[in-house]
Amino acid sequence: MTTGSQTLLGLHRPGAASDVFADGGDNMIRLVPPAFARQRLSIGLPEISEVDVVRHFTRLSLDSHGVDNGPYPLGSCTMKYNPKRNDELARLPGFAHAHPLQPPNTLGGVWELFERLQGMICEITGMDACCLAPAAGAHGELAGLLMIRAHYAHLKNPRPVVLVPDSAHGTNPASAAMAGFECRIVPSDLRGRVDIVELQRMLTSDVAAFMLTNPSTLGLFEDQIIEIAELVHANGSLLYYDGANLNALMGIVRPGDMGFDVVHVNVHKTFATPHGGGGPGAGPVAVKKVLAPYLPTPVAVRREGVAQPHEVTPMSIGRIKSFHGHVAVLLRAYGYLRTMGASGLRQASQNAVLNANYLQHQLAHMLPPVYDQLCKHEALLSGARLRTSARQFAKRLIDYGIHPPTLVGAGCVYFPGDLKSAMLIEPTETESKASLDYQIGIFQKVFDEDATDDALLLRAPVSRKIARIDLTA
Ligand SMILES: *Cc1c(COP(=O)(O)O)cnc(C)c1O
Repeated sequence: MTTGSQTLLGLHRPGAASDVFADGGDNMIRLVPPAFARQRLSIGLPEISEVDVVRHFTRLSLDSHGVDNGPYPLGSCTMKYNPKRNDELARLPGFAHAHPLQPPNTLGGVWELFERLQGMICEITGMDACCLAPAAGAHGELAGLLMIRAHYAHLKNPRPVVLVPDSAHGTNPASAAMAGFECRIVPSDLRGRVDIVELQRMLTSDVAAFMLTNPSTLGLFEDQIIEIAELVHANGSLLYYDGANLNALMGIVRPGDMGFDVVHVNVHKTFATPHGGGGPGAGPVAVKKVLAPYLPTPVAVRREGVAQPHEVTPMSIGRIKSFHGHVAVLLRAYGYLRTMGASGLRQASQNAVLNANYLQHQLAHMLPPVYDQLCKHEALLSGARLRTSARQFAKRLIDYGIHPPTLVGAGCVYFPGDLKSAMLIEPTETESKASLDYQIGIFQKVFDEDATDDALLLRAPVSRKIARIDLTA
């Protein structure tokens, strides 16, 4: 806005910086001590048009690999495509412009959707109560373990030990340690399942819980889960379900029916939030009745038909996240669940399992499965037939626009036995058959290169600006 030669901010008037805001009536600049105030208006920023800026950042964004620009079969991570329509829901002004400090009674829509989402998560997992607050899977684990600790403290029966299988994701023992437990590792048997005999021996009176994911991080269903649950419960211990692999069994079986007492769900793996790059996710925790009094706060409750936050529960472990948790992430999950419905979720899991088995079968002559049996949503493939190794193989996939699968073995994730070179591949349900066949073709190409030109694999990736950023050799 201009009046005569004056402008609102005075930006076009030559002179000292302290003049800049004078005409706008803004005295802020006077609060800056002269020693720190800028003396010149120009600070020499480059003059660039909008289109150049957009191109610059678009180019930078394409330097990172994402599920929007290529396959991302990173096992254990469920890097599936997430429909953009859920972002539209999260962007609705009533949600997007809400302020964390707004009085709860002006956030009715958020609490309404939260209350419904809690119910859906309970329905999918077979649990009785749910809190959406934790910020990620690992945070959900911490919340779940703190609840378990509070439960035994309340029973005046402190149990300092948590059991974790050797195939567990690294966050499981880390969370157990953070929650103040001593962690003991249960070995796997020759079939890649929990060694029941060992488990039985390790279930002593000081064991608070056994943490398990099913299907496991080897992509295998723990087919003795009912027996495991009975053993754990007979010992007075609880069974924790790491829900990171829920994508394999939504709508087919429920952790609650398998005997689990507490579950976390990785919303960013299973329910439609883009995952990776350290962006926000969410790790709701759901529990059976026995643990419900200890849930973190706030939990959405419905009173006289109106959903609202419930903050005060005497035995709760308290708040573990500021304000309302990661609202936009949870709204996307709500949108996804409503869109998919029960049959859609079941179909997603069935296709995730089908796709993984298709890859496992088609790749078997190059990368034979470590456990030769049907897998669930991910397949553990051996690099034993490679002249180089699974690691070099994975590096070369980058050159062809495929994100490397999760590497397993020496120097990577800890796995049982002498697994030196293997990869965990998870295609997800959102890759088409054409995309899977394309990926199989690339795997074949790299396999042939491994046989004929292993020097290339040792240098790969050769098409990227930076190679082997995480390796010194
Ligand atoms: C990803 C993952 C976790 C940790 O979840 P975050 O959301 O990354 O904190 C735990 N367990 C398993 C099996 C996982 O795959």
